[in-house]
Amino acid sequence: MRLIFLGPPAAGKGTQANRVAEALGVPHISTGDMLRAHIASGTDLGREAASRMEAGELVPDALVIAVLAERIAREDAAVGFILDGFPRNLAQALALETSSVGTIDRVVLFIVDEDEIVRRIGGRRGCSRGHTYHLDDHPPSQPGVCDVDGEPLVQRPDDSEVVIRNRLNVYSRETEPLIDFYHDRGLVVEIQAFGPVQHITRQILDEVRA
Ligand code: AMP
Repeated sequence: MRLIFLGPPAAGKGTQANRVAEALGVPHISTGDMLRAHIASGTDLGREAASRMEAGELVPDALVIAVLAERIAREDAAVGFILDGFPRNLAQALALETSSVGTIDRVVLFIVDEDEIVRRIGGRRGCSRGHTYHLDDHPPSQPGVCDVDGEPLVQRPDDSEVVIRNRLNVYSRETEPLIDFYHDRGLVVEIQAFGPVQHITRQILDEVRA
């Protein structure tokens, strides 16, 4: 099963990709997570990507495509994958389509209104190892501390109000055109991405297994 999760920032793509990937036995591939790992380990690629990410801009296609190609070539992705945060523009979608990864089975489009996005981002916190929480929807048992590894919980630098406004603009300018691109290919399934997390996971699984 090869899936793309498409939708605005904080639509819940990462949370759902984790859950659906586990249910389907395929890897969850997040270009944002991979880029943040490069930044954390101080690679050249991380240094190149960092300023764009901090500003909420897209990282150059060539960099992201290289990171993705390397990940998809690993053995665990032979059974399928969920792409979370890729493609982000038409050039990336075309690169994926002409690559050797095989055809995409479904594009899951997360529908969520803008007020809800702002609320979700305002409350979003995470630890340095990638475990995520929301102050209201999914609080840690001890404030400010990760339940899994005891690491401090912080806000992502690109979740600040100024940067999120830019990320939403970038989404509507660069990424939204992909909805038509994948509609034309008959791949889009729409998910109303609000309500209980388990309920959304169930909807996605029902749609992609249909
Ligand atoms: P995300 O975790 O998916 O919200 O991504 C965080 C940031 O990483 C984005 O705002 C971009 O700066 C960068 N990024 C992630 N995926 C891509 C991509 N496919 N193309 C370009 N930039 C990306």
